Amino acid sequence: MERYDSALALVRALKPERPVLAVRPHAAGRAARWFLDHFPGDVAYAYKANNSVFLLGALYGAGIRHFDVASLPEVEDAATIPDAHLHFMHPVKSRTAIRRAYNEFRVRTFSLDSEDELKKIVEETAGPDGPARDLKLYVRIAVPAKNSRVPLERKFGITGSKASRLLVKTRQVAVELGITFHVGSQTTTPDAYTSALAEVQRLIVKAGVVVDRIDVGGGYPSRYVDSEPAPLTHFFEAIRSGVDKLSVREDVKLMCEPGRALVAEAESLIVRVEARRGDDLYINDGSYGALFDAAHLGFVFPARLCSREVEPGEPMMGFELWGPTCDSLDHMKGPFMLPASIREGDYIEICSIGAYGRAISGQFNGYGVYDEVILEDEPMMTMYGNDEDGRVVQQG
Ligand SMILES: *Cc1c(COP(=O)(O)O)cnc(C)c1O
Repeated sequence: MERYDSALALVRALKPERPVLAVRPHAAGRAARWFLDHFPGDVAYAYKANNSVFLLGALYGAGIRHFDVASLPEVEDAATIPDAHLHFMHPVKSRTAIRRAYNEFRVRTFSLDSEDELKKIVEETAGPDGPARDLKLYVRIAVPAKNSRVPLERKFGITGSKASRLLVKTRQVAVELGITFHVGSQTTTPDAYTSALAEVQRLIVKAGVVVDRIDVGGGYPSRYVDSEPAPLTHFFEAIRSGVDKLSVREDVKLMCEPGRALVAEAESLIVRVEARRGDDLYINDGSYGALFDAAHLGFVFPARLCSREVEPGEPMMGFELWGPTCDSLDHMKGPFMLPASIREGDYIEICSIGAYGRAISGQFNGYGVYDEVILEDEPMMTMYGNDEDGRVVQQG
């Protein structure tokens, strides 16, 4: 894959006809090293966030060996990574997916949030000599979302006396019992983890079971123009102090499952302006492409002009973006701050789309086909700057 110093250098060289996915593997590597250095347990990358081989390679190079996978195709892909430990953390799986994950891909870790799912797992992993004796099972509990941009409440997770009954039943068949939760994606304050771990403690006491593993899930934030999270160090402090209060074995194993925080800032989207109408820009990718979150969740990604140098002092103004498909939902309200002189034929680098951008994009209306390059410069915003909180050096 071709490498460029910056989006500007790329646009000058290629004048790309299609939108470009531009990965910064060094940014993914930096994020992974930060998590591995600071998290007191296993760091499992949530595979669904982005499966670019260049980003996976950077995560692997930094030392990531655990992967949170959610479907059989993800299991099959991730199983090709040498020494990968796969954790099948979707609480609702098909019987075939369970059986093949266990028998063909040596997956031993599964999550569940119901007695029906427990029964499925036990039945599908049993061999001729009876039930499997090497299952590591995590009960997924529901926890309240706090300051999450993408709450995951209601869909998964068990609570209350049902949860404590499920913990007891799961304990009987699991060689290792865990509890897991997900506080919601892009959670910007650490109190969500504090209250989730307090809920874990209430359930442990209620169920009276020995717990071997705690998986604090994903949810760690990235930086966006409209979302200024607390530093990641604060999240890990909250997790450490929440775990310290748990009635679990002394040597309890911890795991986390970051998706967004490892890859968000490691990929940009480079688009061309096909038309300008006042403060509306019509561009060649959108909500059916890599900008789903900008359209449907109102994310304001950092953006900059990347087809020419901007005159010093040139005024900036807020723009709305419209994607290429015929659908009027294909609209990213922003505002995206760009030079007032922007015009048809200019290119824009939309930064920090690495989490769930490429992963969600489809090909409605014949769009959603990308060129790909590697960029060697810094993203516009980072969580892993070198000031004392480990955050925030803004560039560009
Ligand atoms: C999506 C998902 C993650 C990753 O979430 P982020 O908010 O991207 O960190 C982790 N665990 C599970 C079970 C998930 O479904």
